[in-house]
Amino acid sequence: MKINLQDMFEEFAEARRNGFLIVKDVKESGNNIVGTFCTYTPKELIYAAGAYPVSLCSISESTIPEAEKHLPKNLCPLIKSSYGHALKESCPYMYFSDFIVGETTCDGKKKMYELLGEIKDTYIMQLPQDQDNKYGKLMWEEEMYRFKNKLEQKFNVVITDDNVRDAIVFCNEERKVLKEFYSLGKLVPPPISGYDMNTILNGVIYTFDKKIQNEKLRIITEQLREVHRNGESKIPVTAPRILITGCPMGGVADKVIKQLENVGAVVVTYENCGGAKNLAHLVDEKESPMKALADKYLSIPCSVMSPNKGRESLLKELIEDYHVDGVIEIVLQACHTYAVETRSIGEIMKSLSTPFISLETDYSTTDTGQLRTRLEAFVEML
Ligand code: SF4
Ligand code: SF4
Repeated sequence: MKINLQDMFEEFAEARRNGFLIVKDVKESGNNIVGTFCTYTPKELIYAAGAYPVSLCSISESTIPEAEKHLPKNLCPLIKSSYGHALKESCPYMYFSDFIVGETTCDGKKKMYELLGEIKDTYIMQLPQDQDNKYGKLMWEEEMYRFKNKLEQKFNVVITDDNVRDAIVFCNEERKVLKEFYSLGKLVPPPISGYDMNTILNGVIYTFDKKIQNEKLRIITEQLREVHRNGESKIPVTAPRILITGCPMGGVADKVIKQLENVGAVVVTYENCGGAKNLAHLVDEKESPMKALADKYLSIPCSVMSPNKGRESLLKELIEDYHVDGVIEIVLQACHTYAVETRSIGEIMKSLSTPFISLETDYSTTDTGQLRTRLEAFVEML
């Protein structure tokens, strides 16, 4: 079956807005919904409880003034924007969530969850922050059981090991399909722009029917391979190839990725939450299911971990596999964990002779021109 790729990209671009109506239907059909905020959430347990996970991470600037009535101005825009939706009751995903699950990741988020708990049932998983410590591993596995109990009690269901195993296979399938898709960035030239790739990686977060999503993504991937085989990519072979790392990109994609590609570069891979950091590794299907979940999720290389050596090794791997010419780090304003890691990541890039720039930004459009100037200068240098 041949599809119109542009129509598909637009369908994924609209997934967030279209999902507003779908989430209502899903809820009114008697299904349960759990709102999530972070890549560390073991969504397999939510599926195993017969419920749907939905992301509540907001990308809109419009709710920030409301949030600043309760939260300090100098706080990450993702946190303020998401909390602002809760105050304004303006996010259908939050409205239809039966409860919210958060993790003790960065300080801003975990303190925001305390306030969120006054508005909506909010359950917290205690995330250890040392990935190698055996107590941390045991604690995180224990947290898996605690979350499982919460789901069982809330939804009056029993979650068996087989339910969890099935959910692991189900989520791994999605990861494999997404990985095949984003690996198109390895091709020279890539058959898809980084902006369209990001649109799809974001759109899947708001897609409820994963079977249809997987089918569409397989077709898109195959068709894009054909574009490459036929030498029909619109991206010049000389376009500097960029890796994006750092904070989640949802709220700043237009002013970063779009502008970067408008000045002649192409984003070939994403290390941050929507990309490899989350999708590169599967959950081990042979291991006992709760331990396998604990192992997979604790190994996610986010800057909230201390130390966070996994980020360095993942970056090195991606730079090689994707023939990366330059690395751009995005730090959302007041994200201290990523801001502190900038120095060590910069040092590693220097040792690899890979040009590197770190950009601090927020959800406003006030720095759009300034970002364009810096992106232009960076691309020119490559
Ligand atoms: S950046 Fe870290 S804390 Fe934030 S959503 Fe991603 S994994 Fe979670
Ligand atoms: S971007 Fe940084 S400050 Fe914002 S929620 Fe994620 S880890 Fe926390």
